[in-house]
Amino acid sequence: GVGKGAKEGILIKDAATLEKLHKVNVVVMDKTGTITKGKPELVSLKNRSEKSDAEVVAILASLEHKSEHPIAHAVVTYAKEKNIALLPVERFEAIKGKGISGTIGGVQYIAGSGKLVGSDASLEEETRAGNTPVFLAAGGKVLAAVMVADAIKENAKESVARLHALGIKVVMLTGDDKNTAAAIARLVGIDEVVAEVMPEDKLNIIKKLQAQGRVVAMAGDGVNDAPALAAADVGIAMATGTDVAIETAGITLLHGDISKLVKAIALSKVTMRGIKQNLFWAFFYNVVGIPLAGGLLYPVFGWLLNPAFAGLAMAFSSVSVVGNSLRIKAKKI
Ligand code: ADP
Ligand code: MG
Repeated sequence: GVGKGAKEGILIKDAATLEKLHKVNVVVMDKTGTITKGKPELVSLKNRSEKSDAEVVAILASLEHKSEHPIAHAVVTYAKEKNIALLPVERFEAIKGKGISGTIGGVQYIAGSGKLVGSDASLEEETRAGNTPVFLAAGGKVLAAVMVADAIKENAKESVARLHALGIKVVMLTGDDKNTAAAIARLVGIDEVVAEVMPEDKLNIIKKLQAQGRVVAMAGDGVNDAPALAAADVGIAMATGTDVAIETAGITLLHGDISKLVKAIALSKVTMRGIKQNLFWAFFYNVVGIPLAGGLLYPVFGWLLNPAFAGLAMAFSSVSVVGNSLRIKAKKI
């Protein structure tokens, strides 16, 4: 099963992981980088300050330049495309799960979610389209907001449907805005969403599901979700994600291909079925052969087991187990 997985781009760390996977009844998916491509782009800018658009972008991009978040990358790339020069930033700080802060030209700025800047501007129309707002604020005043769009992976919707068909519950987990998360979830057909969660709470959500007796697989890219990946019964990392995700997870999906998640579960089921069949064939020959050889039927029919036949049966039991196992290689999953 592990060998077949490798051929399909499903890297399984150990046999125990493959064994546990067939029991999974809840799959928790991180949004950014798992359901979406994790390569967001800046799509619009709303400037509410006296500064020019270019100045606002320069400030925001300079701050984001110091961050490793995918959103940061989108802003910096946009500034580069517009040939906007970056400014020196002092006292940069990343605010986990919310945004960033830093000082430029003596002014302290913060950038990030509506929650962080205390903005009640809902930007409903944009967030309902599945885009993420990034607010820039200074001195308690929101200066601007940019919208960042992250495309959904092509096979996300189909994968969710296939998981549902297997009777598996799918939950989406994200630190992103509620409306944005709901929009993405609707587009891929996920009915349960937990949004605006702090990185440490992702872990607690996994633990809560486990406390309800669920067997939980967590799929993520490791940006803020490595503890959750480690806590899940089966951690599934996107190969496009961070090293720490791949390190902690039991399974890694090449190219971050989410459809391989369904394949991995199918593979686990096929492998477990094979193991049970093998146990049958390994014992069946012995259960029949040993009493025969011991003369169980001798008093009635005068039958004994010829030692040559016994040897043949012994070999056949091994051949059938190996042969049955090799069948997995040819199976389409
Ligand atoms: P996710 O669960 O999608 O990986 P994160 O926990 O990384 O989300 O971030 C949650 C939210 O915090 C983001 O949706 C964004 O609004 C805000 N945020 C985090 N880091 C940054 C950043 N560098 N720039 C702007 N916003 C950020
Ligand atoms: Mg993430």
